[in-house]
Amino acid sequence: MTLNWFKKHSNEKKEKQDNSDSSEKTYFFERLKKGLSKTCKILSTDIDELFTGKKEIDDSLLEKVEELLITSDIGVQTSMDLVQKISKKSSKISDAIQFKHALKEEILSLLNLQTPKQIPEINYTKPKVIMVIGVNGVGKTTTIGKLAAKFNLEGKKVLIAAADTFRAAAVEQLVIWADRANAQIVKHKDNADPASVAYDSIEAAIARDMDIVLVDTAGRLHTRVNLMEELKKIKRIISKKLAGAPHEILLVLDATTGQNALSQAKLFDDALGVTGIALTKLDGTAKGGIVVSICNTLKIQLKYIGIGENIDDLQDFNSKDFVDALF
Ligand code: GDP
Ligand code: MG
Repeated sequence: MTLNWFKKHSNEKKEKQDNSDSSEKTYFFERLKKGLSKTCKILSTDIDELFTGKKEIDDSLLEKVEELLITSDIGVQTSMDLVQKISKKSSKISDAIQFKHALKEEILSLLNLQTPKQIPEINYTKPKVIMVIGVNGVGKTTTIGKLAAKFNLEGKKVLIAAADTFRAAAVEQLVIWADRANAQIVKHKDNADPASVAYDSIEAAIARDMDIVLVDTAGRLHTRVNLMEELKKIKRIISKKLAGAPHEILLVLDATTGQNALSQAKLFDDALGVTGIALTKLDGTAKGGIVVSICNTLKIQLKYIGIGENIDDLQDFNSKDFVDALF
């Protein structure tokens, strides 16, 4: 799926607003369902199987459900709490459909309980600067490409800063994404100072009247401590060039790393103050319950989810769509 598809689709949308709105919704929901299919198997199909031949809910069934929830990476305590809540309603539940409905409602209310730490939308002068951070391989560059395409479709002018200068291939990969997404890019030579790339990008973005700057960063330096110091320096330099920036510190986490993602989030948040999370690779894992863990324990808003490697495989996180796609 390419940006051309997107463009064609948005043109069609102008022609047949109503029809196309709902077909676009269906299209993205189906992609979400497909992306979450491995987690859906655990949370939905496997629960169906537990009910075969059962007429009522007993302790052994509840124990097995708890195991399934833990397997999906919902987290031990949360899984226990969920099962306990459902067991209280068990007299009203007599089959798998009712059980899954109850579970879905409980998970949704957990997701909606989150009190995200959000910086208030203040009036800022263009450009909006989004600094993207996370360990190596989580999907920062890919997410930047997808975000650039998304903002471009919204009619915004996007500039990407190639501030991961640690590996030569990182810049090449970013150039390809910028091209696909119709975004501009500012890059220096290999091993250049990442903070100066960020600085030049902001300067260029102001001069060219850009709306959004997406700053790519390295996820691995010689030591973890160095990485945090380097990122702090980039953040500082950005704010020197443009007061109030970066407006967003977007942490990218890889869903396939399970609970490890939570400890990464704590480290990055302590060092840099994370304002939003993008959770990638939900399509590659049966551990999609990590979404619940993230919303439940981190108190940082889950903004985007990645459900594949294509340019349109990034969605705004929506708790209702998420549970609807799972059950
Ligand atoms: P970075 O090191 O954080 O910049 O990570 P990259 O953006 O280079 O991504 C690492 C790998 O993860 C690449 O092979 C991507 O195609 C892949 N990837 C990123 N996001 C997703 C996703 O949502 N789903 C899947 N299946 N793969 C992804
Ligand atoms: Mg990268």
